[in-house]
Amino acid sequence: MLSVSDLKCTIDDKEVLKGLNLQIKPGEVHAIMGPNGSGKSTLSKVLAGHPDYKVTGGQVSYEVNFEPRDLLAMPADERAREGVFLAFQYPVEVPGVSNLAFLRASFNSVCRHQGVAEMNEEEFRKFVEKKSSIVELNPSFLERAVNEGFSGGEKKRNEILQMAVLSPRLAILDETDSGLDIDSLKVVASGVNKLRSKDNAILLITHYQRLLDYIVPDFVHVLVNGRVVESGDKSLALKLEKQGYDWVTKA
Ligand code: ADP
Ligand code: MG
Repeated sequence: MLSVSDLKCTIDDKEVLKGLNLQIKPGEVHAIMGPNGSGKSTLSKVLAGHPDYKVTGGQVSYEVNFEPRDLLAMPADERAREGVFLAFQYPVEVPGVSNLAFLRASFNSVCRHQGVAEMNEEEFRKFVEKKSSIVELNPSFLERAVNEGFSGGEKKRNEILQMAVLSPRLAILDETDSGLDIDSLKVVASGVNKLRSKDNAILLITHYQRLLDYIVPDFVHVLVNGRVVESGDKSLALKLEKQGYDWVTKA
């Protein structure tokens, strides 16, 4: 579904990704771990199409209807309509825009693109209320402005609500576990698990092994200094938890 080869990028003339390789097939969950500043969030933003990050080398191919497409040539909104989703490490507050209106505009935009019927406000409200229960978010959050005044945990749940509404093919979750207490972590993880299917893939960026007890990945990769330096199964995450990143950094 996604094939990243030798990806290099800069931000403010600083090289952050330095030749990154990653292959993801439908149905798979990949975890990316790595020290602070290794380029994890940068990778997620480059895949989503953030305009500040300049790709200076490599390719990203994304399969749409069994046809490989050049993801980097697609504008960010087109990537989103083709099923690429990013849950931000730091979700943005959008004052003045109701959460419900925002979700419906996003949802209907995807529907139009994929040639399926859009939902009117009443239909959508019912649909989204069901989805809210997946992340145990009270429907009153739909009436508020996007993320405005939400606690850290509520913002993270709201990101997963967006994911539940949009049912992306490739979901990139950037430290969705950070700042969550253990109960919220379980709710978010079980929400993500409910959205797992054989047709979609999830790229989980995380700092801690703990999340991977609840969302069990098929592959774990270690990102150090802009490159994937080690890949393995879930036991790699346990090893990192015990031994830190020192051994991979040195190797
Ligand atoms: P991680 O998510 O792995 O902690 P990031 O991808 O956020 O790391 O950052 C990687 C490096 O890129 C860091 O040194 C960071 O300071 C730098 N960087 C990321 N975004 C920006 C930006 N918008 N402006 C300047 N430097 C940035
Ligand atoms: Mg980060």
